[in-house]
Formats: sequence, structure tokens, C-alpha cells
Amino acid sequence: MPSFVISEKCDGCKGQDKTACMYICPHDLMKLDADKQKAVNQEPVQCWECYNCVKICPQQAIEVRCYADFAPLGASVIPMRGTDTIMWTVKFRNGSIKRFKFPIRTIPEGEVDIYKGAGEAKADLSRIKEPGLFTHHAAGMTMPVPK
Ligand code: SF4
Ligand code: SF4
Repeated sequence: MPSFVISEKCDGCKGQDKTACMYICPHDLMKLDADKQKAVNQEPVQCWECYNCVKICPQQAIEVRCYADFAPLGASVIPMRGTDTIMWTVKFRNGSIKRFKFPIRTIPEGEVDIYKGAGEAKADLSRIKEPGLFTHHAAGMTMPVPK
């Protein structure tokens, strides 16, 4: 079930250089038509069906559709993100609709302690491009770059 951009909803991420769906797609499938300011999945058969673009789109303009050869057109899956839940709307080909709501976080937004469990170690941002974890750096370890 590859992703499909609903062009009526897509606003091209308001003309930014790189749209949210282009940024997030692990397979570089999303492409922006700069003239029309609309994105498109340029190669649906290559889609990993990871749903990243579906979930990140701020306009809820991307849905997932079945291939027409094993499920006639009409079925779709589309999410609606909230601050702590996500609502999936599943439309079946007979027109019936089911919705599922799931929590998407266990800690209130902005309250994640990224150093929890790291002891006294703190990240040294001047070493951000070096391989290894910041806890390795704090422990004086260097990580060899694989050859
Ligand atoms: S993320 Fe959504 S609104 Fe932005 S370009 Fe992609 S489909 Fe369009
Ligand atoms: S579902 Fe995943 S692989 Fe497919 S277009 Fe979206 S981000 Fe790319």
C-alpha cells in the first residue's frame, strides 16, 4: 500500500526548499512540483510503506492506498495527529469506515530528560560529528571509523 498525495490538500509545505515529506522519506521518493507547489510520490512501487510521510505531513495530505490489482480503488488509510494520540481512519472499499485512536507518547511534550540514565555525562556538541555516543566521549573512548 504505497503513499499517495491528495493534491487538493497539499500546499507544498508553503514553498519551503525541502518539504516535510521529502525530508522524511528514507527512499527519496517524494518530489515537489515547484510550479504547482504540490508533492508527489514519484515511484509508488518503490515505496517502503513506512508511513513516515503520512504521519509527518502537516496538512494530512498523504494517505495510503492499496494497489488496484489486488484491491479495487477506494480503500485508504489516513492519520490525524494530535498532541498525545493519533487517530487512524481506515476506509474500506465498500465505503465503511473504522477509526482507531492510539497514544503516541508516554511523557508529556517537552518533558523528556535526554540525559536520564547517563549519570554525570553530558554531550560535548563540538564532537557531534564524531562517531560514537556521547557517553563514549565522556568515558574517553574513541570509536574507529569502519574502513
Ligand atoms: S508534507 Fe504534505 S503538505 Fe508538505 S509537500 Fe508533502 S504532501 Fe504536501
Ligand atoms: S511511506 Fe515511507 S517510503 Fe513510502 S513515500 Fe512515504 S516516507 Fe517514502
